Amino acid sequence: MGGKQSPVHITFRHSPFFNASAHAKREGHFIDIHIASVLLLQVLFEKLLSSPDVVPELPGSPDETRTWTAPFIRDLGSAAVDAEMTIHLDYKRHSVALILQDFCAWFIVLHEISHLICGHCRGTTHFFGEPQLQEFFGLELLLKRGRFLKTSWEYDADITASAILCQYIQHFHASGKNPHLLEAFQFLDGNLARLVGLVTASLFAMFVYLSQMEYRLNVKSYHPHPMLRTKYIAQALLRRAAADYDLDKDAIYEWQIEYMSQMAIELDRVGLFNWDDFDVEFSETDGQITKLSAIAARLRESCAKWSWFPLDRWETMNA
Ligand SMILES: [Zn+2]
Repeated sequence: MGGKQSPVHITFRHSPFFNASAHAKREGHFIDIHIASVLLLQVLFEKLLSSPDVVPELPGSPDETRTWTAPFIRDLGSAAVDAEMTIHLDYKRHSVALILQDFCAWFIVLHEISHLICGHCRGTTHFFGEPQLQEFFGLELLLKRGRFLKTSWEYDADITASAILCQYIQHFHASGKNPHLLEAFQFLDGNLARLVGLVTASLFAMFVYLSQMEYRLNVKSYHPHPMLRTKYIAQALLRRAAADYDLDKDAIYEWQIEYMSQMAIELDRVGLFNWDDFDVEFSETDGQITKLSAIAARLRESCAKWSWFPLDRWETMNA
């Protein structure tokens, strides 16, 4: 990709907040992931998979099911443990929960890497004098200029991260090294389209969980609306997977909808789906995504000189 780049250092930082950031310096590229992000995702997917209605084709084995409670933060704005989740899982469903958590955590890392790849970190310093690109921040930063530009960067980082994540999904699917995981994921029947659908639904669950934070006064971001994000990321994963692995687009779409429905119902049941936050009209989302994509295409030039690949390769990299 482009010329020789200095290394990317990834740090998992001790912090009770759900956050991530990236910055570029002369001596290298740095990504900080707040450890709470990973731990909370673990409990989120353990809770979702505790329901037999999520991935019902993998029934739990009652003899091997364990029950435990895990601390959880419902109100991500305050970063204090405010709930205990009761988890019931056998080892197969637990393995699936941990892998889905892993895909989401990797999406966060890849989203940060994509900010570096696309040159946004240098852009943040150049245009706004900010030392790093942070995902969530206080209100005063939101009131500064640059909203369109920064939202277009978030969109581009999501699309680039989706293209790379697709390779991870395929790699996981093709590698049969771990016999426990092979057994746990047998329910997929070797169907990669189905795994793409399940990972899409996991990202959706993460965005639903994060969405409550976007509507609080003290924590803001430049991310597009969670429903838009889910939709264009689902479309990007579908396009990429169908093109690279010769999969049927309709099959991927059906699995995406199937698993997203299962997770939406369960998120609602455990009180994590705030329907008021999802008030974007479904009929309007396509128009909004087209608009977002056009704005991003127009503003992409802004960071082209720091990007790790030439602008004219954007379509082949990400379309
Ligand atoms: Zn971002």
